[in-house]
Amino acid sequence: MSTQEQSPTARDAALAKMLAEAVDTCARCGFCKVSCPTYPFGGGFETFSPRAKVAFLKDYFEGRDVLTPEWVDRLYRCTTCERCQTVCQTAIPLVALWESVRADIVTKGLGPMPAHKKLRALAEKHGNPYGESASRQSQWLSPEHHPMEAADILIFGGCTASYRMPSMLQTGVTILTRLGVPYAYAGGEEHCCASPLLRTGQLDVAGELIGKNLDLFARTGARTLVTPCGGCSKTLKHDYPVWAEKLGKPFDVTVRHFSEVYVDLLRQGRIKPSVAVNKTVTFHDPCHVGRSQGLFDEPREILAAIPGIKLLEMPRCRESSRCCGAGGGVKANYPQMAAAIARERLDEAVATGADTLVTMCPFCQGSFSQAIKESEASIGLSGLEELLLASLRQ
Ligand code: SF4
Ligand code: SF4
Repeated sequence: MSTQEQSPTARDAALAKMLAEAVDTCARCGFCKVSCPTYPFGGGFETFSPRAKVAFLKDYFEGRDVLTPEWVDRLYRCTTCERCQTVCQTAIPLVALWESVRADIVTKGLGPMPAHKKLRALAEKHGNPYGESASRQSQWLSPEHHPMEAADILIFGGCTASYRMPSMLQTGVTILTRLGVPYAYAGGEEHCCASPLLRTGQLDVAGELIGKNLDLFARTGARTLVTPCGGCSKTLKHDYPVWAEKLGKPFDVTVRHFSEVYVDLLRQGRIKPSVAVNKTVTFHDPCHVGRSQGLFDEPREILAAIPGIKLLEMPRCRESSRCCGAGGGVKANYPQMAAAIARERLDEAVATGADTLVTMCPFCQGSFSQAIKESEASIGLSGLEELLLASLRQ
């Protein structure tokens, strides 16, 4: 039977078998350990390293009863930043490994962590993990925006941008409006993309949210989903096709992060940045946009097209970018560790001498905004879309 013909259950079993075999290939080189942003917060204990977790999971896959509360905690101290798997010399799919075991932990009733249970309860009740009312979802829409009932492009705002970083969405949609690009928006009907639930192993409620979104997408007839969020775009691109098959629902759409849309418009000559934006910037590659989706050149192409922008790269950039600390449910349950990781990355940005730190994910922007406030660092923060809009003539 071909892979395509396998049932989702058989495929899940195949994934578990593949992961169990993959842990056997670990060369114990420790490349993952020195690259991991959370390992330094384990008090120097090797057991907090990805390498040690792989060795531990070998025992687990061999059927030993090893999931103590301490190991459960260690397995949740991971932002799913994917840095370890980009350096793994034996190509172990480490993030799939962490997420798969987290799902097992939840199934066995040994997890997730307390803050993750709260996210779940809020998402079940309100459709988003912030517990916000659906009526606030479209708070960012300005009078100048005219979303259509149906269009090729459907804007998927995502919970974090819609409820916590509305200016990011507002700016992105203002750019589309100014360029006359038609788009639809189903404000109030969107559910959480389920990223926080998937990353923390809470697959049952994740499946419910994904099912509702799949129905919404089918109803609108959208061909392209566009979102400003790293977490949403990664989840829609990589997880939704698998879940659509599992749930027996259609998902015949292209998913694009806003930066991909800007680059298309730039290459077509429809975006013409002409107003000088005189800033020296450094760019933070969000893990779930960069490593997860391979979008490294696109933001740099946009920055290079804006007159007056000078880019100074941080030593750790592109595939080697350091995480902001927010992903994988870490910020929710380990806020101090997340803040320390963001602070470390902020220091790296300040050391470049840039006057502005630029990024393109609401999670990264939230982390750095907090870090700048707490450390009183003398660096500004900007979304890529803000700089782009500032460079366009009215
Ligand atoms: S995904 Fe990132 S945080 Fe998690 S173990 Fe790998 S390097 Fe560490
Ligand atoms: S980088 Fe890969 S091979 Fe090396 S220790 Fe980590 S998991 Fe094992």
